[in-house]
Amino acid sequence: MIYFSTNKSSIPVSLKKATLEGLAPDGGLYIPSEIPRFSPDEIKLLEGASFNNIAFAIAKKFIGSDISPDELSDMIDNCYTFETPIVQLNSNTFIEELFCGPTLAFKDYGARFLARLTGFFAAEEQRLITVLVATSGDTGSAVAYGFQGITNTRVVLLYPSGKVSPLQEQQLTTAGNNVYALEVEGNFDDCQRMVKEAFVDPSLNKSLTLTSANSINISRLIPQSFYYAWACLQLKEIYGFNNPLFAVPSGNYGNLTAGILAKRMGFPIGHFIAASNANDSVTRYIDDGRYDPHPTITTLSTAMDVGNPSNFARLRYFYNNDHAAMGREITGIAVSDEETRATIRSVYERFDYIMEPHTAVAYHALERYRSTEGAAERAGIVLSTAHPVKFLEAIEKTLDKKIEIPSNLQELMEKKKSATLISSEYKELASFLNGLDQ
Ligand SMILES: *Cc1c(COP(=O)(O)O)cnc(C)c1O
Repeated sequence: MIYFSTNKSSIPVSLKKATLEGLAPDGGLYIPSEIPRFSPDEIKLLEGASFNNIAFAIAKKFIGSDISPDELSDMIDNCYTFETPIVQLNSNTFIEELFCGPTLAFKDYGARFLARLTGFFAAEEQRLITVLVATSGDTGSAVAYGFQGITNTRVVLLYPSGKVSPLQEQQLTTAGNNVYALEVEGNFDDCQRMVKEAFVDPSLNKSLTLTSANSINISRLIPQSFYYAWACLQLKEIYGFNNPLFAVPSGNYGNLTAGILAKRMGFPIGHFIAASNANDSVTRYIDDGRYDPHPTITTLSTAMDVGNPSNFARLRYFYNNDHAAMGREITGIAVSDEETRATIRSVYERFDYIMEPHTAVAYHALERYRSTEGAAERAGIVLSTAHPVKFLEAIEKTLDKKIEIPSNLQELMEKKKSATLISSEYKELASFLNGLDQ
């Protein structure tokens, strides 16, 4: 399998190169030259298979002979050591809980796979890869715990001092081993600026191989298709539903793009509902074909506060820039904070189920779609992207209720924080990086 850039002016590359580079040299995003297909018979064989077996079957098609089947299988078992529960709320509404990994958010699915592929390819090249990430919370923690202990890799995380929640800070600063946390006296934009400067600093890049681990990396995207395949096959196997709707809480639209991959591979998926908050550039594009991104607006579902989503380039590519074609497979629905709060309350009252804000946005969008499209009977799966404790304050305020902290989280909160405090001047980052073992 080869990978080429959405901008079409870079030469096609192997998965190894696409993974280690992240972004294509022409500034585009890597996509597979063709999306592998599963025949109906192959899909039938996967009905009733375990999550890891489905993941293996998909990964194998994307990876080809770059990794031996045995090694790939070990890698997958090493990534997905946790469950992916599908909870039934009522006869035809299901929540796929993607928050059972070590950092309690769905980003674990992509980050853990990316980390292992990076480690594998870096070892083949006999290189030490330094992953540099600026984070305002969730991505950084998934990356920290994803790369923890992976040989031939190390991670340097920059986070803004005092601007992440206590839980997030614990997740960012306790992975240890090959993970270094830098607490920056500045804001998230400072962290991002410093990282960007490092990537173009010639003297630094002579001694270190730097890479980023943000959601544009194709090796973070491929594994996110696993849970779409798993959910639609489980729904068929257990409940007899075919071609369900998927409601996806969207920020950079990586999650949604992975769903499109799963559908094109041949998995029985009906239609996508791309749920957004007030940051609705893609929602508006699907409606009228004009892409007019607005500045980012802060909302209750903070991980979806993205004005100009990075994976939009891939979505456009998949639909040949045809917004009407996109609209036949994806309905965009924007949900206000007020509707989000009302949804958290009503879901709790009706089903005794605690939903965090991102999941609530998607749930609301699914309900709206089913009622306005006369599709009340259709089965729908809501992707739940985070555990409620990650958004404790918002939920406790909305429900006026205390939320129980899971025991594994208690353990995390007691771990010793280890971070290096630096100012927001680039030279402090450069000197930290230069001081690492070569
Ligand atoms: C990152 C994130 C999202 C958005 O996912 P994208 O792939 O960027 O669209 C939604 N919910 C939560 C909790 C997240 O952390």
